[in-house]
Amino acid sequence: MNRPEYVHAITNDLLYDMNLFEIKCSTSEIIELKKDYYIVFSMEAIDGELVILDIYTRLKKFIVRFYEVEMINLSYDKIIECLSIFKQQEYEKNTIISKIVKDSVKTVEDRKLEIRYKDSDKPITNSRHLTAEIINDRFKDVKLCLAEEYTGRPEEKQVWNCLNILNHTFECSYKHAKREYLDNRKGCPYCSKQQILDKIKWHSYKDKSYELEEEYDSWEDLKEKNTNLSKDEIKIIKNIVREERWLTPVAGRVYSIISPNDEGKLDLNKPLSNYEKFIIQILGINFNMMKQRIFKTKFNFVIAIDEKNGKAYVCDSMTKLSNAITYVDSNQRLNRKTISKYVDAGKDYAGYIFRTCDMNLIEEYKEKYEVQTI
Ligand SMILES: [Zn+2]
Repeated sequence: MNRPEYVHAITNDLLYDMNLFEIKCSTSEIIELKKDYYIVFSMEAIDGELVILDIYTRLKKFIVRFYEVEMINLSYDKIIECLSIFKQQEYEKNTIISKIVKDSVKTVEDRKLEIRYKDSDKPITNSRHLTAEIINDRFKDVKLCLAEEYTGRPEEKQVWNCLNILNHTFECSYKHAKREYLDNRKGCPYCSKQQILDKIKWHSYKDKSYELEEEYDSWEDLKEKNTNLSKDEIKIIKNIVREERWLTPVAGRVYSIISPNDEGKLDLNKPLSNYEKFIIQILGINFNMMKQRIFKTKFNFVIAIDEKNGKAYVCDSMTKLSNAITYVDSNQRLNRKTISKYVDAGKDYAGYIFRTCDMNLIEEYKEKYEVQTI
């Protein structure tokens, strides 16, 4: 609301006797007057000049010029009566307008409150008033954040980052992200069980030797680089991973989410990276159980490697093996149960490193050691 102005009727004794009154306005209740002048009437007005124009228009017939000043020529009683009507009108106009304005302000406030408390306990849901900071705070729990400033347009595609270890980057609108990933608490779509295999690194290894052949940045990349494979074969690659048959080859290669070991080979016994552990967890796979099952069917031999003497002993039964060999450089007997704890553990027992292997690996070991089959 504007500050009020003031309209005054002023006169002096001489003018008063002649029924002459000058109408003037001021921005404060106090007005500087010429000597001997005084105020006979005052009123508040939103726009003083406008009220004066109105008064002079309506009392046009009573305007006289006295020494270059326009004055109203009316008796004191009459002019007070007229000005009282202007005062009353101005007062009513202001009161009514103020009330209307006040009511509509209240309505806007109420509407804001309605918006504020509608389907959310968060303070602001009007997406046009959101900032990246507010959005990121709300998406924190589902590990997503905007990779850029919010455009203020909820339907517009924006770049998002996933805060999980896979650190996905993808595009979608705020509206979509809120509905699909926040409200239902699902989080990053590419970290879901359905899509986890899409945006991760893949590796392919030669069947049998498990030597690294090729690496892929994503599932798309794998598809692009393996045009020799049919649609069905491509589909099988994902199924093999989901169905926990991780060493099953497709067209002479084993496709894996496991990165190579220090020797550049696929090795299910190597320590898993956090990246790999995360994928396995999302897939809902019990990795150790799967490994045991694979090894039982695939690696049906155990090899005891005596590095020191360049010898190795291979056998299809741990009991037979424990009966056939002794400690390296001593006659002490081996414990069958202890052997099983050391198989593929990377640590030695009785001077041997124990590993599971299949027929192909036995051939490879023969290149390096003097292999004896028991
Ligand atoms: Zn993700």
